Amino acid sequence: MSNTFISFKTKTYLAIAKEPVYVGTGGYRIGRVDNTIIRDSGTNLPKIPGTTISGNARYYSWLAYKSEGMNLTLGCAKGKRTEKENACGMCPVCLTYGFIKDEKSHSGLAYFSDARILFFPVATMIGTVWVTSDEIVREFIDTDGSNIGSVSKEKFLAALEIKNSLPENNSNKLFLNFGWIMLESGREIDISLWKIKSNGENSEVSDLSDFFKKVENRICIVSKEVFHHIVNSNLETRTSVSINPVTGAAEGGALFTYEALPRGTVFIMDVTYENPKNYGNDEYGDNDGLNVVIKTVEKGFELFSSLGIGGMGTRGFGKIEIKGSMIGEKEYWESVKKYVENLEKRYNDLQAQLEKVEGEEKEKIDKEIKRITHSLNLYRKYIEVQKKKLEKQINNFNEIFNIISSINITISENDMPNETEEGENA
Ligand SMILES: [Zn+2]
Repeated sequence: MSNTFISFKTKTYLAIAKEPVYVGTGGYRIGRVDNTIIRDSGTNLPKIPGTTISGNARYYSWLAYKSEGMNLTLGCAKGKRTEKENACGMCPVCLTYGFIKDEKSHSGLAYFSDARILFFPVATMIGTVWVTSDEIVREFIDTDGSNIGSVSKEKFLAALEIKNSLPENNSNKLFLNFGWIMLESGREIDISLWKIKSNGENSEVSDLSDFFKKVENRICIVSKEVFHHIVNSNLETRTSVSINPVTGAAEGGALFTYEALPRGTVFIMDVTYENPKNYGNDEYGDNDGLNVVIKTVEKGFELFSSLGIGGMGTRGFGKIEIKGSMIGEKEYWESVKKYVENLEKRYNDLQAQLEKVEGEEKEKIDKEIKRITHSLNLYRKYIEVQKKKLEKQINNFNEIFNIISSINITISENDMPNETEEGENA
């Protein structure tokens, strides 16, 4: 990240379902397919709403910092007062996701888009392919000048490798089954240079070239109408036993059915991060506060792959892996260092001012000092725990290094097998 101030930044991420993802409209009615998936009002395709992502992310960011030694309250996880505890209003979780506290409140600095389907996995006679539509490609992909155009309803576009693996029928045409639909192979496409489309000036398009390399010979593009049909006819429908939330036991005969997006579905989403410096305080440096905000969300994202998303989380549903160019540990800690040093400087400045003022002015400064003290204490504990953790790792590495360095063997060149001998053996 450059050192010049930027007021906001948009980052694009891919989310890959490691398990079926169920994001329901809520409300259980027993015995029928009533737990329907949430759909995008424009495209009518299933999606994961931004509010679901941000709600999960907040809780996971809180868990991550908590497990790293930061002393956060339950209120910080919710962003508002719980039975016992307030949101602190100063920790990175409150800063990033917003909070309501007594007379004070602040909206969050991270804005989550919905996660929309980019590629949808379908089992075919040549194995799993990832299907997308001409419409989705136009919206999200920079195709490096190659024009995909509109795909007709009877055809699909794919890379040469897919076309080569299809058997020819009597009329020398190539067909592929997408579930129940047979489509004829159309133009050949090359997606090796595809990139995620940029969102404009302050957009950081994550480098996803590794991901594209993996799937480039597995992607098929169909028309918008056919894509709807393929997605809707390949959703997983499952029946489950309803669990009584109070007793935790299965309720007699209470079966319900729900739909889920299958494992392997690839979603695309973006998060716009606002620089906390926009709200005036100099403790945030130029972009150090912004880096802390971004990293806070990305710490939460890391837990999506083990803790999951959506309504069926407790049944092991909805684990997703989020991919993107995440902020590195080194850059993050450089920003934390500057941020904490700025806070400390501000603390000292305010202490000096405190001696010169009285009355209302003094009360105001006192309050601000309390706020900063709370934040400094949170970071002090966090930094200490992280330091200890690293020390342990370094010691461990040192021991391993010493063992490896102390291994003493010499290799005599005469003992090495040479080509002639190998040749004779073969
Ligand atoms: Zn907090």
